[in-house]
Amino acid sequence: MTRNKFTWLLVSLILFGFIITSFVSYHVAHKALEEQIKRDSLPLTSDNIYSEIQQDLIRPIFISSLMAQDTFVRDWTLSGEREPEKIFQYLEEIKRQYGTVTSFFVSDRTNRYYHYSGVLKNISEDDPRDGWYYRVKAQNPGKDYEVNIDHDKANPDQVVVFVNYRVYDFEHRFLGVIGVGLSSNAVAGVIEKYKKRYEREVYFINELGEVTLQGAQRLDFHAIQEKEGLKELATQILTSPSMSGSYTADGEEFYVSSRWVEEFQWYLIVQQKDKFNSKIFVETLFNDFSISILVAVIVIFIAQFSFRGYQARLERMATTDKLTGTYNRQAFDDIVNKCFKDTAQSGAPCSIALLDVDHFKSVNDSYGHQIGDHVLQRVAHECQRRLTDSGFVCRWGGEEFIILLPRYDAKQAEKVLEELRQSIEQQHMKPKVSVSIGVAERIANENIDTLIHRADTAMYQAKEHGRNQVRVAWLSEEQSSPLI
Ligand code: GH3
Ligand code: MG
Ligand code: MG
Repeated sequence: MTRNKFTWLLVSLILFGFIITSFVSYHVAHKALEEQIKRDSLPLTSDNIYSEIQQDLIRPIFISSLMAQDTFVRDWTLSGEREPEKIFQYLEEIKRQYGTVTSFFVSDRTNRYYHYSGVLKNISEDDPRDGWYYRVKAQNPGKDYEVNIDHDKANPDQVVVFVNYRVYDFEHRFLGVIGVGLSSNAVAGVIEKYKKRYEREVYFINELGEVTLQGAQRLDFHAIQEKEGLKELATQILTSPSMSGSYTADGEEFYVSSRWVEEFQWYLIVQQKDKFNSKIFVETLFNDFSISILVAVIVIFIAQFSFRGYQARLERMATTDKLTGTYNRQAFDDIVNKCFKDTAQSGAPCSIALLDVDHFKSVNDSYGHQIGDHVLQRVAHECQRRLTDSGFVCRWGGEEFIILLPRYDAKQAEKVLEELRQSIEQQHMKPKVSVSIGVAERIANENIDTLIHRADTAMYQAKEHGRNQVRVAWLSEEQSSPLI
């Protein structure tokens, strides 16, 4: 596997892991949030709204109940409804004092509909618009009132939320129905206020599921049975005092919470769109991606870095001699080939030398192999130090080194090698060693083997002539072809 392939595999794995983790954590978080909304947040909102309703909407019920208990109303009715201005004035006073849109009293004995502005009409069982009165009159005696939304009798354009309260005499005989009305706009305003405050949809439905009260922004259905998704929850909502659930409509998820409001005989519904999807998910995903990309970049960096380190080390190991740190034969072949190519183009000279440690066997024998190794290291080090800029040193085998000197002719080579020989000889170290060196300049197109052979021969001549010296494989005047 190549370095890049490995890196990409690693990066893909990391990104893949992060994506999977993101999705899983998203789902877990979503589930938790869903539960939280359904179980705590929505019911809590409906509790809050309920307590606000008690202040805002239950007030008219309370006012109506006070009116129904009022001894003046009962006395006035029982004494024959004389001086009707008195009841008009009373109703006017209630309307003014409590800021309701209307106030009324219907007497059961005379069927008169008293209004703050005067007698409006006589109600009749035959008039369907008066159905509400007979309904209230007939209703279960345990229930003293009902909340009803209807058109105002005096101003039919206006929709009013009426509280119809039953009035009894002192012996608990039915006298009529009294109450006030609130403008449905005002009520819608109250609901709108809740919607804004809680950022949730708020509305009321009656026992049949029909929407009775809602905010200014109207819902797109008249009864919960008409709404896609919500209709599946209708039975559950209409049969339990409170519930929480969720439904899907138009591809969006909604959470719903309902609660029975005894005073209205209606259900309060609070619902909320699942806002988790778009915003939080994208944010989470974005965060996770940023982290994963950061980690991936770090991994690439580390991988590349360590790969490079390993590669460099491997290359070094493959090309150098372990003991001396000089080039090995393999590396030397490449260097020589390259040098031959270059000199063939430029016509520059090039020389090769063989260097052998004198009487090395006796170093080993007298001081041991370890010291022998150390001597080899010292010799190699000295060669490299002296020839850093001019040539390449390679361990040829045992205590023998081969040196390539590009751009050096035999004379120049002899000079630097002589300096090298002297510096080895003069090293202040025990045991002192010397070296014998044979050098040969390459003749045009001469192959490496013959060139080395000539250098080797020269080195043996150096040995024969007393060691510790440099010998050049000169071409004799008569010879026109390379030696040997
Ligand atoms: P001459 O001057 O003729 O070269 O004498 P010499 O003793 O150096 O010659 P010879 O070739 O007989 O001895 C070379 C010795 O070098 C023999 C071998 O044990 C020793 N040798 C070869 N490689 C190593 C090495 O890596 N470490 C050590 N310590 N000794 C080595
Ligand atoms: Mg030798
Ligand atoms: Mg030797």
